[in-house]
Parts: sequence; C-alpha cells; structure tokens
Amino acid sequence: EHSERKVNFGPGPAQLPLEVLKNVQAEFLNYNGSGSNVMELSHRSSAFAKIIQEAEQDIRELLSIPESYAVLFLQGGATAQFSAVPLNFLNLKSSQTADYLVTGYWSEKAAKEAEKFGKINWVVPKSDKYRGVPAENTWKLTENSSYFYYCSNETIHGIELEDIPSIVPKDTPIICDMSSNFLTRSFDITKFAMVFASAQKNFGASGLVLVIVRKDLVEKNTNNSIPVTFDYKVQIANASMYNTPPTFSVYIANKMFSWTKRQGGLKSMNQLSDKKSKVVYETIDQSNGFYSNVIENKYRSRVNIPLRIMKDGTANEKLESSFLSEAVKSNMIELKGHRAVGGIRISLYNGVSLQETTKLVDFMRTFQKNNS
Ligand code: PLP
Repeated sequence: EHSERKVNFGPGPAQLPLEVLKNVQAEFLNYNGSGSNVMELSHRSSAFAKIIQEAEQDIRELLSIPESYAVLFLQGGATAQFSAVPLNFLNLKSSQTADYLVTGYWSEKAAKEAEKFGKINWVVPKSDKYRGVPAENTWKLTENSSYFYYCSNETIHGIELEDIPSIVPKDTPIICDMSSNFLTRSFDITKFAMVFASAQKNFGASGLVLVIVRKDLVEKNTNNSIPVTFDYKVQIANASMYNTPPTFSVYIANKMFSWTKRQGGLKSMNQLSDKKSKVVYETIDQSNGFYSNVIENKYRSRVNIPLRIMKDGTANEKLESSFLSEAVKSNMIELKGHRAVGGIRISLYNGVSLQETTKLVDFMRTFQKNNS
C-alpha cells in the first residue's frame, strides 16, 4: 500500500514517520468529531487551543523547560528569527553589540542579517572553507556583549557543536539556532537565553518556528519599534496568537512531539542519532578515500553528512551524479549536496530509521565496488 513511498534523506522539509502520516490521514476529513480538517478550524476554537496547549506541554516535558521560559509557535521559519533576535536583544547591554560565532552558511546568514540592525562582532574570522570550529582561546569576545549567538548544527557544512561554548561569560545571554539538530539529543535549556528551531526537519511542516525564550530578558527589551509579529513581548502576551498562527504546522508539531515521547524521548533520539551517523561515517572512513568528508572528527554532524566521491585525488562530479541517479532507482531521494558545497549530503533526521540508513550504507558499499 505504501510501496510507492521513497526514503527521503533530504535536508528539510524532511521525511516524517509513516505512523504519524497515517494518523494524520485517518483524521484528515474529520478531526476528532469536528466534521472539519484541522486547517479549517478557527485558531480561537477550543479544539485548536487544546492542540497548541498539548504541543507546548509535550515540548516542555521533553526538554524540562521551566516556567521562567516562554514557548512560542511563530511564523517565518528560522530565518525570521535572524531578524527578530537582534531587534529584541541587541540593546540588552551597554556594549549594544552582539557576538556571533560564525561556523558555516546559516550562522553567517544570521550574522549578516543582524548587521542591518546594529553592531555585530564576528568572534572568529570569516572563512570560505568551514571544516570545524576554531579553538575557544582564539575567539574575540566583546566586553559586556548583549548576547552570544551560534548555530549548534550547520545543515549545509555538516558541522555540529555538541557542547555549549564554555568561554562565554556567565552573564552573557546565549542564543542558539538549533534548527537541524533540535530533538536529536537532550540539552540543558537553562544554559540558554533563547533557542529556536524551524519545524520542517525534526518536528514536521515548514512555516513554523519554535522559540523558547527567557521571559525576564524579553521584559528588559527597550526597543519600541519592533515589527509587531517579531516582538516577543507581544507574542508572549498573546500566547503566539496575536494573529493567526500556522495552525496546520502546529497540529503536526503536536503529533511529532508526542511521537518523540512515545519513542522514549530525547534519550532514544540521541541513541538513534548516534547509531545512524556511526554507520555512515564508518562507511566513509572505510572506503579508502572513495568517499570523503573533510570535517574535523570532533565537529562531524550526526544529522547532516556532506561528502564527495573521489577519483584520482579530486572530487568527481560524474561519479556523484551517477550515485544520485542510481540512488533514485533504488528509491532513495534528496541526496544531492547543497549548491554551496556540491557533492552528496545525507540528512538523518528523526523521521529516518536505522533500517533505512543501513539500506543507504549498503547501497554506498555496492556503488563503490562497482565504480572503483
Ligand atoms: N537555520 C538552519 C540551521 C537551517 O538549516 C535552516 C534551513 O534549512 C534555517 C536556519 C532556515 O530555516 P527556514 O527556511 O525555516 O527559515
């Protein structure tokens, strides 16, 4: 019945668990006796209120989020937060400057967007070849910085920071873009002033960004000219419903949070992420240089794995395109690398199973055998 479904290793929007999709399908024409699809329900209805409240409860439980933090379901994807963060927090401290750790494409985008609104300090020099993260003792931090910003997983370059930077002073708020590794491991939310993640990787449908933010910092904000939908104060006061929220995406997020809980929560997701990425990196490292991933071991992402196929010491685009087309023939799709880095990219979000990853790894070994 589902034989036409392909295995999707895309960077997002990503594959969702079949169990969740079937559940959505079952209530598509009649949600919970309402006689409507969820997307046809008023966002002010009690049925939708229940959905968004359940979603909030589940994510609070999954991450042990204390009451001192607000949980917001906002629009505009993670990109909207690239603007909202400086608008709300750039003037938090006397320096009126924020520190940005740029480790790849997405933190670079965030830093450049923030520069429209004020003074941004790049903690490490700009690179055109991201392969890891410069040692903390080389970072140039601002005295009394308004906040410190970084991205915990660079989706395009495949660089993941497992640890929260330790060199940042205790009283500097830390803000993190967790879009691509959110819910793949547990972390201590109290170490952060704010984290955000767009939904289309590990909890569902695009257009929704989850923001978890310390309420006291939002209270301190003195900027009165923030566009209203970007203003955390307004969003908190209206429980994410100042205007119509992306109701269908919130509904899917609710399903995905409860699926994540049923799987055993973040401890299980962490183990799954470890296992899947391990078999892929083993395949790369045991390929005698046929497959190449150049990221420093310590920073290799468990979620997005970019690689090149090598021949005579250089990346070989012909082999790469034949890899991609043969993968499609074997029902494995969305493996093309981002145009910024080329090659192949394997994304292993929570909706991709170990079994599916093993199928890909078997394919990689066979492809190497047939092409070297
Ligand atoms: N940040 C990271 C780490 C991402 O991977 C992405 C999208 O792939 C974004 C931000 C942008 O997210 P959106 O397209 O939802 O704005």
